[in-house]
Amino acid sequence: MILPVVILGAGPAGMSCALWLQNMGLTPILVECAQRPGGLQNFQFLKNTSVLGQQNMTGPALARRFVGHLATLGVRIFTTSQVKRIQRATNGTLTVAILSPTGTTEFACSAVVLATGTRYRGGEVLADMPGFDSIPSDSLISGPHCFAQLDAVAGRHVFIVGAGDNAYENALMLLARGARVSLLARSSPSAQSGFTNAVATHPAFSLFAQTQIRRARVEPPLIHLILSTPAQEVSLVVERIHILAGYSPNTAEITDLLAAGLGHPPTLDERGYIIADASGRTGIAGIYVAGDVCTPEFPSVVNALSAGARVARTIELDQRRLGLLPT
Ligand SMILES: Cc1cc2nc3c(=O)[nH]c(=O)nc-3n(C[C@H](O)[C@H](O)[C@H](O)COP(=O)(O)OP(=O)(O)OC[C@H]3O[C@@H](n4cnc5c(N)ncnc54)[C@H](O)[C@@H]3O)c2cc1C
Repeated sequence: MILPVVILGAGPAGMSCALWLQNMGLTPILVECAQRPGGLQNFQFLKNTSVLGQQNMTGPALARRFVGHLATLGVRIFTTSQVKRIQRATNGTLTVAILSPTGTTEFACSAVVLATGTRYRGGEVLADMPGFDSIPSDSLISGPHCFAQLDAVAGRHVFIVGAGDNAYENALMLLARGARVSLLARSSPSAQSGFTNAVATHPAFSLFAQTQIRRARVEPPLIHLILSTPAQEVSLVVERIHILAGYSPNTAEITDLLAAGLGHPPTLDERGYIIADASGRTGIAGIYVAGDVCTPEFPSVVNALSAGARVARTIELDQRRLGLLPT
């Protein structure tokens, strides 16, 4: 009997892996902890500019298209589901137990693919700042929501924490809507020069590089910030704080499960991303990885789709070599 392959995470990487496994005659099962599949694309509210031929699609629309494709093939996706155990029987077969709204299900499987992606960093990046707790939640906006709530910013002062592409793209959009923008870089900006050049001379833009926030004090609707720049302390009064300070890999839970069930956690880099070979092998028999959770250097839909496909091909080759598939 050919056992299924369980894929943890139904973002672009997991769904692409499922498609390729299905096309190669294997049986993928997707397990997704969120209510709907699609991963981070569910939060990309702007129209796509980076997936060839999909230029008018928002992220959620693209995610729906991916899900629709798998549905036509009958691929099973368990949403709102948590992985409870990953174990290996004495004959080498892996078992994955999940808790979904319909109850607990255990799958015997030939391989497990970790495609759990990343999550955007939110208020935790400022949590140690004195006064943080007094900032109203509707004045503190994180990740993709910074791009969705651009109404009524004209004439307001928005403070952006973060200095990568997302932060600068957000600054450009806010400036275009008449906001005043101050941007905090803890070291130097890391955004593409196209973005940094576009705002550099804008009269309503200020960059605070190599700067820390010392404290905040709230006088609704105003937030008073004290910044420590290399030259001096600076006092700023802002109305909103946008946190666009990057992403963290979703590896903690998986690492614990693999350590408890198989005795081997995957190897992580210093930021918590899974280290694997170029084909997605983790070094643990039957455990593979694909997408943003292992490629911090190129988080993107196209990379996730390609990585998912590549790992499916790797699994097929490995299983053929092990005699688990007919030659
Ligand atoms: C606002 C925004 C804009 C973006 N814009 C672009 C763009 O223009 N172009 C581009 O190419 N890319 C863009 N990206 C990045 C792109 O969305 C990601 O690179 C891509 O989604 C990565 O796919 P993935 O499958 O590796 O991970 P993800 O999309 O993160 O999917 C991982 C999935 O795993 C699930 N999961 C996590 N832990 C578990 C668990 N323990 N068990 C089960 N499921 C789990 C998550 O819920 C998620 O659904 C953007 C991202 C954001 C947030």
